[in-house]
Amino acid sequence: MADKYQVVIVGAGPAGYVAAIRCAQLGLKTACIDAWLDPEGKPALGGTCLNVGCIPSKALLESSEQYAHTRQGLAEHGIGVGEVSLDLDAMMLRKLRVVKELTQGIAQLFRANGVTHVQGRAQLGAERCVVVSQGEDQTTLSAEHIILAPGSSPVQLPTINMDGQYVVDSTGALSFSEVPSRLGIIGAGVIGLELGSVWRRLGAKQVVLLEAQESFLPIADQQVAKLAQRSFTGQGLDIRLNSRVKTCEVKDDQIALRYQDNDGEHDMSFDRLIVAVGRRPNTDGLAADEAGLLLDQWGFIHVDEQCRTPLPGVWAIGDAVRGPMLAHKGSEEGLMVAELIAGHTAHVDYGTIPSVVYTLPEIAWVGQTEQALRAAGVAYRSGVFPFSASGRARAMGNTEGFIKILADEKTDRILGVHMIGPQSSELIAEAVIAIQLGGSAEDIALTVFAHPALSESFHEAAQAVHGQAIHIAPAKTRKARKKPG
Ligand code: FAD
Ligand code: NAD
Repeated sequence: MADKYQVVIVGAGPAGYVAAIRCAQLGLKTACIDAWLDPEGKPALGGTCLNVGCIPSKALLESSEQYAHTRQGLAEHGIGVGEVSLDLDAMMLRKLRVVKELTQGIAQLFRANGVTHVQGRAQLGAERCVVVSQGEDQTTLSAEHIILAPGSSPVQLPTINMDGQYVVDSTGALSFSEVPSRLGIIGAGVIGLELGSVWRRLGAKQVVLLEAQESFLPIADQQVAKLAQRSFTGQGLDIRLNSRVKTCEVKDDQIALRYQDNDGEHDMSFDRLIVAVGRRPNTDGLAADEAGLLLDQWGFIHVDEQCRTPLPGVWAIGDAVRGPMLAHKGSEEGLMVAELIAGHTAHVDYGTIPSVVYTLPEIAWVGQTEQALRAAGVAYRSGVFPFSASGRARAMGNTEGFIKILADEKTDRILGVHMIGPQSSELIAEAVIAIQLGGSAEDIALTVFAHPALSESFHEAAQAVHGQAIHIAPAKTRKARKKPG
């Protein structure tokens, strides 16, 4: 006999666990199945994000930034600290503690909300049944609705043998036992840049990023990407575009790597190599053949705008479906599907999902890039305000970067906001709200912001859309000086 639920969710990452809690809040009898085990072999909720993704990477970014700042950034404030030492073991233990507190927090939330947690690997069968395997044991759960949230795993390259010691994926790169002196990274995307920054700040002498594409961060606004590339290069990240690995071999504790760029083939040797070339959906074996689950050519689960699969009562959310592979995107889909199952109206606004790269300076954006607007032939105005003109940024000693607002030329509606600079990961929320509420550059320009605060730069960028920023010379807003209408 199968255990019966109203909703069964496969996967307890930020998509699945959020869906589970909201289903339970809405009075639905809910079970959430997850296979994850922590390094001690104990069940751990939270998926990639909490265990080996967002949270441990941000813990290390924070620790490494504090280390680098203590070593190099305090002197200008008149603070002397003597010799600064690094205890990598302690840093890693802190990271593990942060992860554990949060994963245990999800278990508590499940208990408090009455979500049944089922440990094991799930497979979707026919007629809304899920078979859960744990060792030799198998249980079958049946439900009126099934939400698939199996997440994603790192892409592997056929030419590179990931041995887990010298050549690792992002998970291995979060747990090096010592700082590699020469670090190679394949892929200059989000993970490559964030983890490359961590190890460079902690003392890696050489960090080389081999990126296959011709342009740097092509998904970001190119004005932002240009400054980012210059800044990261200045920090010692050696970014080599147009570079493809030909061979990679581990011998005598060294990684010998050959890559090709426009100038021909080059040999390099590294102590450690991180492969960070994207992620793929965890859909191998997720459904039995008789379930009839439809996947696309890359293995993503086929869903409509509201995350319905073509199978009645079966939904899919998070990294395993189309759209950006971001925790908050999956969580919003989880909330939407829970509400829809409960018979409520719900949707996700895919146009207002923010992106953040947690480097120094931080990069964040929402909405359309300038290159996308140009390609679509949309007439827009641009207002740019540099942090060098912000009193707060000066007081902080953190003036690199700018905020750019793109607004529709006719309606003044904000179409995109792009930032590079201090606390962009926090500042971007203002832009998301503005776009979500259909705000115009004028709306922001007429809003009062506290002084002195970094958020004033968002205010001034909005003023700059109409050539009216106070703290920059008019020439700087040249592109934006035409009045609307
Ligand atoms: P996941 O988090 O992958 O969770 C899926 C869960 O389902 C896992 O626990 C898995 O074990 C389980 N599962 C899979 N198949 C089965 C099965 N058959 N049976 C039972 N259980 C199953 N995103 C951000 O938004 N911000 C960041 O700062 C950020 N940083 C990141 C840093 C790194 C190093 C990495 C790797 C990723 C980062 N991401 C970040 C991406 C983010 O982690 C993912 O977008 C997010 O975790 C996806 O959530 P999900 O719930 O879809 O899947
Ligand atoms: P990514 O797509 O950001 O970057 C992968 C990079 O590798 C790309 O620039 C790609 O051109 C390059 N590449 C692909 N094949 C290559 C090859 N053979 N040789 C050299 N370069 C190659 O993917 P990622 O950095 O692995 O991150 C995976 C996902 O996790 C992303 O979708 C991202 O959204 C998510 N993530 C988000 C955050 C965040 O929100 N701050 C942080 C980390 C990861």
